[in-house]
Amino acid sequence: MGSYCYDRGVEVVKIRPRGYCHGVVEAVRALRQAAEEHEGEPVAMLGYLVHNEHVTREFADRGVRLIDAPSRLEALEEVTEGTVVLTAHGVSPEVKDRARAKGLNVVDATCSDVVRTHDLVQRLTADGYTVIYIGKVGHPEPEGVLGEAPGMIHLVQSLDDVESLELSTPKLAVTTQTTLSVWDTQSIIDRLQQRFPHIEVHNEICSATQDRQQAAVEAAKECDVVIVVGSSRSSNSQRLVQVVHELAQRPAYLVDTVADLKPEWFVNCQRVGVTAGASTPTILTREVIAELETMGTPAPLTASPDPARA
Ligand code: SF4
Repeated sequence: MGSYCYDRGVEVVKIRPRGYCHGVVEAVRALRQAAEEHEGEPVAMLGYLVHNEHVTREFADRGVRLIDAPSRLEALEEVTEGTVVLTAHGVSPEVKDRARAKGLNVVDATCSDVVRTHDLVQRLTADGYTVIYIGKVGHPEPEGVLGEAPGMIHLVQSLDDVESLELSTPKLAVTTQTTLSVWDTQSIIDRLQQRFPHIEVHNEICSATQDRQQAAVEAAKECDVVIVVGSSRSSNSQRLVQVVHELAQRPAYLVDTVADLKPEWFVNCQRVGVTAGASTPTILTREVIAELETMGTPAPLTASPDPARA
């Protein structure tokens, strides 16, 4: 990192809406309640409740055990007693059945928007549809949705995946992970419609995700830089960075905390936008805003003339 001098302060644009969505608020409330009601008993969280280390740490301090494994089913095998909390991302029916078969007390914190996607996939596949699901490989939400109808649902995340589909079914539908962006799913949907003109489109990107992305893009056009407060594990936080880059053509940086801010991002910057992923605690965003509001605009130091040669 180079040297910087500071002059006037930057104007901070607090982009709204930002931060916690209703699904995260409800999931955090459900886990707090489970931790209180079952204090002193084993309480396990099946994967990250939301993709944010600070939320996870708060619950670790309350004695909640986080079990992270390649799949929810594998994580569940490590729980032998007590209460298990299912995260906002949802799980497959197999995981719920297995948890009940193990005699565990199940607290289901699945977001209502994710439940809606599960219901949609159930309805479509029961009606004989094959479903194409646009989602992120390895993310827990697709894992849960795919488990609704193994063999009748195909996960795609790129145009190449669309090209490799070999389907001749008359009933075909496409739906999406809730936390993607309209913009990165649209090219995939367009290509699917070219290949399969009869395909039904069900866009399931949740309104919390869409509203935050829309607001970030609009505000970014009036800013020099945008800071997204969120975890690198959070799909919707990463998408906020992506839409600012691609649609507003502005630099955007993801920071987990105020400590990640770098002066070189703000050289000659006059307006900085701040937004936050749907799983980012408000306190972290407030700290970033406070730091930016007190920070001057860094300008690189220019080399001073060599007095010996003057
Ligand atoms: S981002 Fe959307 S789907 Fe995910 S928890 Fe929030 S409201 Fe629910």
